[in-house]
Amino acid sequence: AKERGKNGYELYTPEMDELYLSKFTMENDLRKAIQDGEFVLVYQPQVHIPSFEIVGTEALIRWRHPERGIVSPGEFIPIAEETGLIVPLSEWVIREACRQNRAWQLDGLPPIPVSVNLSVRQFLQPNLTERVAAILIETDLAPEYLELEITESMTMDVEFATAALMRLKELGLRISIDDFGTGYSSLNYLKSFPVDKLKIDRSFVRDIMDDPNDAAIVRTIITMAHHLGQTVIAEGVETEEQLAYLRTYGCDELQGYLYSPPLSPEKLRERLQSEANR
Ligand code: C2E
Ligand code: CA
Ligand code: CA
Ligand code: CA
Repeated sequence: AKERGKNGYELYTPEMDELYLSKFTMENDLRKAIQDGEFVLVYQPQVHIPSFEIVGTEALIRWRHPERGIVSPGEFIPIAEETGLIVPLSEWVIREACRQNRAWQLDGLPPIPVSVNLSVRQFLQPNLTERVAAILIETDLAPEYLELEITESMTMDVEFATAALMRLKELGLRISIDDFGTGYSSLNYLKSFPVDKLKIDRSFVRDIMDDPNDAAIVRTIITMAHHLGQTVIAEGVETEEQLAYLRTYGCDELQGYLYSPPLSPEKLRERLQSEANR
């Protein structure tokens, strides 16, 4: 039980009760949802800026809650992280993304890599490489079709992160840095990390036309990445103006509502099919 403050409710309020209750409920629901398979993946296309061809997809998780409908990852990923449920959940995400990707390839669709978000907990798992390797074998997906997205917060321990990333790279898969520019140690590690791609965070792209500082940051990230031999993708591109700007400064790819929101597997399949027929 919670200690009470002097006035009796300082540290313990009905609101807190509700919060704890809903968190507890969420944890139990999550546990059950993993068992019952209530999760689905949607796929957002990543397109090459000059040609507008789909060159990749990002797998994004959705929870089909029996009572609450579609729950977005922002609501349950933090709780999954806290409770450790993120480990089995993320394992499912990687397996499902690989399985789906291989199925599209076997169907004769143009092969494109799928990108999966790694959680902090997952990144810290000592046997991550072995688990990923096992999934690639199980799903028969060639490693170059899997990309793992990490965030800067995972790279605080540079030595650990470098070693972990090297092991993953040895499998032959790709690594990207998600939400680039929002973390701490961006420049310090970039030169030693085996990273293929930088994803410019949506917050910089959003104000590119109005805020000269954001525009300068975006141009700098593009130039720097290219000097380091990395591909750059801009997240959250919503307008033609943003696209024109990014094209002018040589950004390689975009992901955003301007081209497409995340799509169901069926819808993404249709897109890929119609591109192949073009
Ligand atoms: P993220 O990795 O930065 O993913 C991009 C988010 O931006 C997605 O939200 C996507 O739907 C949204 N988005 C894409 N284009 C636009 C745009 O043009 N405008 C705006 N306003 N938003 C756009 P979503 O799917 O709700 O995912 C939110 C976050 O949840 C992700 O951010 C990621 O950090 C996390 N997440 C999603 N799926 C997974 C997963 O399978 N595992 C883990 N560990 N995290 C995940
Ligand atoms: Ca991501
Ligand atoms: Ca992102
Ligand atoms: Ca984000």
